[in-house]
Amino acid sequence: MPNSNADKLLLELVACDRCKNAFMMNKGEKLRKQENNEELVCKNCIKLEERKKQLELGVINNLIESHKEIEVSILEVKDNIDISKSEFNKQHFLERIKKRSQALTKSIELLQKIVESNDEKYINDYKKLFEKLKEDLS
Ligand SMILES: [Zn+2]
Repeated sequence: MPNSNADKLLLELVACDRCKNAFMMNKGEKLRKQENNEELVCKNCIKLEERKKQLELGVINNLIESHKEIEVSILEVKDNIDISKSEFNKQHFLERIKKRSQALTKSIELLQKIVESNDEKYINDYKKLFEKLKEDLS
């Protein structure tokens, strides 16, 4: 009985196009995806992709915040120089700007790594690293 409804409800063992692990997929769904040239992706890979997207969004928000803070720091330095023309706060503010811009560079590097990486363990390492980065800055 090919193409019967009962046939389409059958589960079939297929290989994930990303991680190559075998998983069970509805036969009708598999045929539909193959007809549309869609990837056959297992649940783990779908979850991993969602987590990566959330993480990227978090990093981008952090970058925007850091950028705003750098702009504020630059304005503070400018005000201080204008008002006092002295050196006492300048070095402190310049150090702060330097630290933040280093953090920005590091964040972008980490973001690139996470986008290239397909390893779930790496995401956790990254989160820890980024939390530490935030602590260092506060
Ligand atoms: Zn997979």
